Amino acid sequence: SMKDFFEESIQKLKKLKKNGGMEDLVLKDEISRGIKNLEFKTFFQPKVYLEEEKVGFEALVRWFHPEKGVISPNIFIPLAEESYLINKITEIVLNDSLNAAEILKTDISINLSAISFENNYFLSSLQKKIDDSRNKNYITFELTERIAVTNFEDTLDKINNFKKSGVSFSIDDFGSGYSSLSYIEKLPINELKIDKSFIDNINTSLVNPIIIELITKIGRVAGFKTVCEGVETEEQIEKLISLGSDSFQGYYFGKPEPLLRVVEKYEKGEYHSKLRQFSYKNQP
Ligand code: C2E
Ligand code: MG
Ligand code: MG
Ligand code: MG
Repeated sequence: SMKDFFEESIQKLKKLKKNGGMEDLVLKDEISRGIKNLEFKTFFQPKVYLEEEKVGFEALVRWFHPEKGVISPNIFIPLAEESYLINKITEIVLNDSLNAAEILKTDISINLSAISFENNYFLSSLQKKIDDSRNKNYITFELTERIAVTNFEDTLDKINNFKKSGVSFSIDDFGSGYSSLSYIEKLPINELKIDKSFIDNINTSLVNPIIIELITKIGRVAGFKTVCEGVETEEQIEKLISLGSDSFQGYYFGKPEPLLRVVEKYEKGEYHSKLRQFSYKNQP
């Protein structure tokens, strides 16, 4: 479950601190040093849309630490958030994503932390950067449910303001936290991503298929796409299609990889040919 996963990350973090003999403060200094040293790299993972036969990507950051190897964002993002270094990381990811959009000419999604979303000053600097880019229409922000649900009016204003710049919005990890369909329906979002925890046991669970079918139907009525996160097998995808799903992200279609690798696969049509293995018919 997500809780186990979180707990596991905390354990990893503690171990990391112990091994390096580092205090939080030192780890934060480390992040700051890593940023200056260009150790943070943006990877890209495909998001596939069967109905449109479209492939977009999500930007996922990794820390290539000179001694500790590759560090997962689940470990350093919470620390970067505490120290506001998250905004620097968001800037790196946005720059890399605008560059990816320039090359791939397709949608690129960026995870926006609540800390960044709450900071009006930082948001306007992001918006300026996006407004100055000719690839602004390719950018989507993924927000967690928590942002969507707390401070609803403020969130609504911010989303509407960014939409004027051509930015799309997606709700990430739906179902993992404070899910509220009544709020989601009232926000002008383009997409909702159903958390991997609902997908993992889709072929054995009695309840999860009903939930997914319902959310997908709501999305169709309310006008947003529903993406199933973390699909790993053909069986899962077949089942999800039978429930009305038409958009997916997961290792089955591709893992997060560096831009050059992703561009190569995209240009060879590797993602599209995987997508075309499945026939999707618009359901009544
Ligand atoms: P997320 O936004 O929900 O991203 C999806 C995570 O699931 C990614 O982990 C991805 O590698 C993983 N994943 C995708 N498909 C599969 C699959 O089929 N099987 C399995 N087992 N995993 C799959 P990753 O890259 O480790 O990122 C973890 C989280 O860290 C992200 O979850 C996101 O919340 C956060 N994160 C990553 N990059 C950024 C960033 O640039 N900014 C912010 N604020 N957060 C980020
Ligand atoms: Mg995400
Ligand atoms: Mg997600
Ligand atoms: Mg997730």
